[in-house]
Amino acid sequence: MKKLHIVSNRLPFSIVSEDDKFLLKPSVGGLATGMKSVYKDFEGRWIGWPGIATDSYTVDQFKEIEGLLDKEGCDTVPLTADEVHTFYEGFCNRTIWPLFHYFNQYVDYSPEFWESYVEVNQKFADKTLEVVEDGDFVWVHDYQLMLVPGMLKAKRPDITIGFFLHIPFPSYEVFRILPWRNELLGGLLGADLIGFHTYDYERHFLSSVRRLFGYEISFNQIHIDERIILADAFPMGIDYDKFHDSAIKTISRPMQEKSTLHKELEKYFLVSPDRKLILSIDRLDYSKGIPNRLRAFEKFLEKFPEYRTKVTLVMLAVPSRNSVPQYQRLKREVDELVGRINGLYGTVNYAPVWYFYRSMPFENLVELYSMSDVALLTPVRDGMNLVAKEYVASRTNQTGVMIISEMTGVVKEMGEAIVINPNHESQVADAIKQALEMPIDEQRARMSVIQKRLKRYDVFKWAEQFVSSLKRIAQIQTDFL
Ligand code: UDP
Repeated sequence: MKKLHIVSNRLPFSIVSEDDKFLLKPSVGGLATGMKSVYKDFEGRWIGWPGIATDSYTVDQFKEIEGLLDKEGCDTVPLTADEVHTFYEGFCNRTIWPLFHYFNQYVDYSPEFWESYVEVNQKFADKTLEVVEDGDFVWVHDYQLMLVPGMLKAKRPDITIGFFLHIPFPSYEVFRILPWRNELLGGLLGADLIGFHTYDYERHFLSSVRRLFGYEISFNQIHIDERIILADAFPMGIDYDKFHDSAIKTISRPMQEKSTLHKELEKYFLVSPDRKLILSIDRLDYSKGIPNRLRAFEKFLEKFPEYRTKVTLVMLAVPSRNSVPQYQRLKREVDELVGRINGLYGTVNYAPVWYFYRSMPFENLVELYSMSDVALLTPVRDGMNLVAKEYVASRTNQTGVMIISEMTGVVKEMGEAIVINPNHESQVADAIKQALEMPIDEQRARMSVIQKRLKRYDVFKWAEQFVSSLKRIAQIQTDFL
């Protein structure tokens, strides 16, 4: 039987040590969830890095960890601390990430980062080659592994390779800035199917292929000698029912079972029935547009003084990539802005911004989603933005208003939301007012349309459609030859 193997930077487990023993903690992220449905049909392996540097463990300890992962169907790609620095923190997060999110000024062009990227991608490819058998399928994920499809295809032309990019693919004019643009593109073209969140990213990719390599392209098919490569859009979904069902439970939970956060949120509304909560949740990343969101909220309070003391912005910023200087600067900027707004408009019993710099467990996220009147998501660039989908899924009575940046992938599935340009402060300030004043009937009409769409195309459907396209392309290749 043909198998489907998954290759991603991180394995779907993290390693925890307890009483001198290692344990695996399953990851609950979107990718791990989506892949579960794929696993049901194929007995494949998952190839990836377990998230720890080999140097921090003895040889025996690392063997033990590999053994545990092996039992869970995972093959480990070991990385040293130096490789984590130059490959992951380096080329992935200081070169590709800023470039693909249009932050050209942040791109680090160090050749040693690139060399490490090539070496580590080769490690992933080599491990995958040990696992694949005749005619198998391989699904490679994301920007950390863009060379892997080419490395696999060079050795094993018989396997069918899919690649999915979870971040934006930038316009050709931005992509061309990269010294190693041809190598990256060549790596991707080792895949038979290349998936993106949106049609725009797909178009940018095809235009780079045309401009840099001059290959023949008809619609979304690239023709290279005897091969046909398909590029397509697969907007990633969420586990809709998980959020929806948890939100129902949250609302109906008896008082004694409510979390501290839940009780605090209820107290906030008790002060006055016309109080409102605006929610924003993201990793603290410069692509998420957090400073411009805060400035727009400040503008809103300045422009519409009647809302002071009545509206609070709950801002959950999850620590991320702390070792990178731009992230440290961003943290300082956000701290300062929050301090300024709370200093200007706060009172003894009112803080305009509740700022949490930490991550929260799933239950708390659902509480925030289900108790906030408005979601304010203003990335300056975002491949998809799953938080927006999670907010929608958690609105069990169809109320709530989404304000979403036009620079996100998710906006393509949210025409009924209030769409803003995140750089337009006064437009965002006006959008906040519009959201707060939107009649309930209108909220429900808009929300229910988005909900239907997201429920239909959830993360399981996403994975299923990608895999069925992969099978189809395998068939087309066979027919073509
Ligand atoms: N999230 C989380 N813990 C938190 C805050 C957020 O696990 O404390 C999750 C959130 O539920 C969502 C993901 O992190 O699934 C963020 O995904 P998104 O696509 O919005 O942004 P990314 O961080 O991938 O750029």
